[in-house]
Amino acid sequence: MPKCECWAMVSVLDPRHGMWAEVDPEARMPLRNPVGHVNEGGRFYEGDLDRLTEEQKAAMFSLLAERFGGTPGDVREHFESLGYFPIREPVSLVICGLHMRCMM
Ligand SMILES: [Zn+2]
Repeated sequence: MPKCECWAMVSVLDPRHGMWAEVDPEARMPLRNPVGHVNEGGRFYEGDLDRLTEEQKAAMFSLLAERFGGTPGDVREHFESLGYFPIREPVSLVICGLHMRCMM
């Protein structure tokens, strides 16, 4: 079965770019589900934890802990139980062939 290759890219003009660039040099985050959902905070996409390396996950959890409080371990537990990490708009989406049809 072909693998999903959907990505969300955070623009260099976005203040969040620096943070994501510490996880991936291009601030390109793997997406689990290219269809976003909306809650009171805005529109979110689901980042795919399984397509991050252990190093990337460790970097991300410590950055999120710094930013939102808690320990990196708490943050990891929270997002692992959620099953994804949220990426808020605005982002550029790269949708893979597997998911292109679902988007139409
Ligand atoms: Zn995909």
